[in-house]
Amino acid sequence: MTYQYWNQKMETLPRPELEAFQLAQLKTAVSQALRTPFYKERLGKAGIVNADAIKSLADIRKIPFTTKHDLRDGFPYGFLSIPRDEVVRLHASSGTTGTPTTIYFNREDLSRWTSFVARSIYATGCNKADVFQNMITYGLFTGGLGFHAGGEEVGMLVIPSGSGNTTRQFKLMQDFGTTVVHATPSFLLHVESKMREEGISRDSIKLRKAFAGAEPYSEDTRRRIEELLKIDVYNSYGLSEMNGPGVAFECQAKNGLHLWEDGYIAEIVDPDTLEPLPDGETGELVLTCLCREATPMLRYRTRDLSSFYTEPCVCGRTHRRLHRITGRTDDMLIINGVNLFPSQIEEVIMSMSEAGNNYLIVVEKEGVLDRLTVKTEVGEDIFMDDSRQRQVRTSSPVSPSGRGSRVSGSTISAM
Ligand code: ADP
Ligand code: ZN
Repeated sequence: MTYQYWNQKMETLPRPELEAFQLAQLKTAVSQALRTPFYKERLGKAGIVNADAIKSLADIRKIPFTTKHDLRDGFPYGFLSIPRDEVVRLHASSGTTGTPTTIYFNREDLSRWTSFVARSIYATGCNKADVFQNMITYGLFTGGLGFHAGGEEVGMLVIPSGSGNTTRQFKLMQDFGTTVVHATPSFLLHVESKMREEGISRDSIKLRKAFAGAEPYSEDTRRRIEELLKIDVYNSYGLSEMNGPGVAFECQAKNGLHLWEDGYIAEIVDPDTLEPLPDGETGELVLTCLCREATPMLRYRTRDLSSFYTEPCVCGRTHRRLHRITGRTDDMLIINGVNLFPSQIEEVIMSMSEAGNNYLIVVEKEGVLDRLTVKTEVGEDIFMDDSRQRQVRTSSPVSPSGRGSRVSGSTISAM
């Protein structure tokens, strides 16, 4: 197989040069971070007052970790390192407390991000002859505009279809001869079953590739999608704190995700001790952004679990590969591609006077999509007087004043 490179020099840079480049970029990132209120304080406490504290890549360990909590505490401008009027875009993701975490970009940040997405897309063998349908949510979520810009940079014809409305997605594919799509793996499976349901023949569409990400999936699921849709599926990893998509991506070897090390420094740490783990061991992925000025992000704890391949890739790229993300260290659920913490559900339940103290979250597969059901106890107030008296008589003569609560099967929220 012949492999194509978007930026051959950077993608195949010998490791010593790549690491020297990273060191220079890390120093710049630290200087930039010191311009933000958050890092000025956080780095100051760690004795880092300028970039001179970083003399080698190993010195990254002098830098304290940053967490999603820190980002929320710093909302809205604690992480901004440039004047507000130089910012041209923001992306945000909603959080447990309802306070979003926000990432700001200046013009150069956007163009650097776009080039990493373009590089990723090109590594899968796409080119300007492709027609790319971006079947993912646009808006504050980075997957929409991020892939859109990357696709245009490659020169593909980009169809900003957004997610959902499967029947319309087929129509677009047929009308414009879509060859590549981007979607969550669950939506791709849904597309396939809808295709069968609507009797759409495989020959009526020209699809040959898909980029699938935003949620964890297994190698078996990848194979299933590939066989059912007769396409090649490439794993795409990113997160809004690191711009969005284009952080790590599979090349045509489809064997691990190249983490673009000229844009990001990756560490794998033990999630309990936070000590670095040797290559090959599974732990929490910690990322430092080297390609964004407006919102510096140093040693961000992603909570994603992964490990590095120890041997180089057959494609000739020198950037290390990550194994597909196997899970998370926190309790975040990803429901049809949307991040959700149990505490967000709890907040809704606790605001309902009818609800009791305990609840149960049930996540099931309904066909290929996730279905989430919340069962909650009901509070005393929900019972009519008569019903309560009956319950007290029958259930608990010992403690007649006890709460007459019991688990109810009522669904208060479903997706
Ligand atoms: P949101 O804007 O919905 O909060 P984010 O971009 O912050 O979304 O979501 C990033 C998270 O999505 C990652 O930290 C990871 O847990 C998950 N994710 C993204 N891509 C993949 C992938 N290819 N495999 C597994 N998990 C992924
Ligand atoms: Zn490769």
